[in-house]
Amino acid sequence: TPPVEKHEYQAEVNRLMDLIVHSLYSNKEVFLRELVSNASDALDKLRYLSVTDPDLIKDGAGLDIRIQTDKENGIITITDTGIGMTRQELVDSLGTIASSGTAKFLKALKESQEAGVDSNLIGQFGVGFYSAFLVSDKVAVSTKSPKSDKQYVWEGEAESSSYTIREETDPEKLLPRGTRLTLYLKREDKGFAHPEKIQKLVKNYSQFVSFPIYTWQEKGYTKEVEVDEPVEAKEGDDETKTEVKKKTKTVVEKYWDWELTNETQPIWLRNPREVSTEEYNEFYKKTFNEYMDPLASSHFTTEGEVEFRSILYVPATKKEDITDRKTKNIRLYVKRVFISDDFDGELFPRYLSFVRGVVDSNDLPLNVSREILQESRIVRIMRKRLVRKAFDMILGISCSENRDDYERFWENYGKFLKLGCMEDKENHKRIAPLLRFFSSQSNEELISLDEYVENMKPEQKDIYYIAADSLSSAKHAPFLEKLNEKEYEVLFLVDPMDEVSVTNLNSYKDKRFVDISKEDLDLGDKNEEKEKEIKQEYSQTCDWIKKRLGEKVARVDISNRLSSSPCVLVAAKFGWSANMERLMRAQSM
Ligand code: ADP
Ligand code: MG
Repeated sequence: TPPVEKHEYQAEVNRLMDLIVHSLYSNKEVFLRELVSNASDALDKLRYLSVTDPDLIKDGAGLDIRIQTDKENGIITITDTGIGMTRQELVDSLGTIASSGTAKFLKALKESQEAGVDSNLIGQFGVGFYSAFLVSDKVAVSTKSPKSDKQYVWEGEAESSSYTIREETDPEKLLPRGTRLTLYLKREDKGFAHPEKIQKLVKNYSQFVSFPIYTWQEKGYTKEVEVDEPVEAKEGDDETKTEVKKKTKTVVEKYWDWELTNETQPIWLRNPREVSTEEYNEFYKKTFNEYMDPLASSHFTTEGEVEFRSILYVPATKKEDITDRKTKNIRLYVKRVFISDDFDGELFPRYLSFVRGVVDSNDLPLNVSREILQESRIVRIMRKRLVRKAFDMILGISCSENRDDYERFWENYGKFLKLGCMEDKENHKRIAPLLRFFSSQSNEELISLDEYVENMKPEQKDIYYIAADSLSSAKHAPFLEKLNEKEYEVLFLVDPMDEVSVTNLNSYKDKRFVDISKEDLDLGDKNEEKEKEIKQEYSQTCDWIKKRLGEKVARVDISNRLSSSPCVLVAAKFGWSANMERLMRAQSM
């Protein structure tokens, strides 16, 4: 028999192993994601090479991943028909820190230890192959590269600083090509070796790996069999003669077989022209556990500088609160491997956190973490495109024939967009057309700013608004008199967030938002001469009123803004509006 060579790990691997073996990390199941993605990488490499060298796959073995479990002994085997490893590659890949992701992990670990924070790095990084030791006492990797005639076995144990390599001699264990990992599970982790458990994990983490993943499952079928049934001897019958009757009975035959456990063609890789709305909706409901169809969806691919595919959705159901982080809205994939559904914040601004969907990037590393995302230039570009697409999708709802849809949307998510006016100046142009307000001429219906602008009088320059605590108090405000007379439409800002959002927008299509309750309202009909005359004539009256009111008002002035009411209280040009004051007072209580 060929010799067993003993090798020492590189010092960093030792440190990493020690950390993994002794971690109290509870989310151990990530090991499967890491090992399946390695298998998928190996298949990707082979597939890529076979384009120029078809001989590599001439042995006929398909490109797939097979996972078998032995629950009695607590063993999981993961077999791929990928590129495999030569003896030297085994040493380089599994004895030293070969992957840049793992090196980054160690660096991040060192930094977080120095900073004294525990930031759950294993979960974020996965740490690749060595994740196997989260659940295993011992791991064997038997592998055959097309570059080598021989198959080699690497073996490592959790509590050891060395590993061994030997040639595979058992003819039963020879592979056409590729790699078989055997995990000997720790006693407390033997539960992972249950066929149903593995199936569930594969579905969860690797559903959209583009190679078929088969798991070894027990199956059953029912079968009718004929059985002999003795008939009870009747009285008086001859005792020695037992009558036998034929009877059919249904029995369940059990057997084991490979079962395809993932969808190999994720819906977002398909041509959008070939996917029906029903399919998009089905995928949405399945993926996000929703019962209602979404209001809109958008499926797109971007190429060039940054490559990713995405399907986004606007839900029809309401998200309670902007701070509600329970719903995991964006599922991030890298090269079709599910990475996390906890990175929405990095891919979308907070005020768009209601948008749901999948994003699959070819440019991010598999072990991507929140920290990496936050610093990544690629992610910044992705984010820009995603936000733009989300707005297009919402605009689509607002332009649809069906006005109800946008009403539903506005009711559910209007306040999110208003928040966007405050938080995202860069996208004001996209948010503004989506806003809706009541107005003095809309008869309790919501209108858009475009509708307002269309309805402006030829000589009208500004967009007028008044903020109030209810529609009826807005309607009866004396400030309206002059504007109604001129038939100028006035927006009624009755939601507490309305006024803040228009003041943040400042203008729409080069038309300023003007608060009609503030002094100095210029309706373009000033007659300076006449005003001066009247001001002089009534200056004593004004002084007298100011004296009587004292500190309660700042000034008493003659105004031309009323037509039937004798007087009105206005806010100072640079002061809080009455509505703002009300809001501030409410908040300080
Ligand atoms: P990464 O996948 O980020 O490179 P891993 O720790 O997951 O890091 O894997 C280390 C290396 O081991 C891989 O880069 C690859 O060369 C090799 N490897 C792991 N699993 C397999 C496999 N199933 N088939 C072929 N090579 C593998
Ligand atoms: Mg890996």
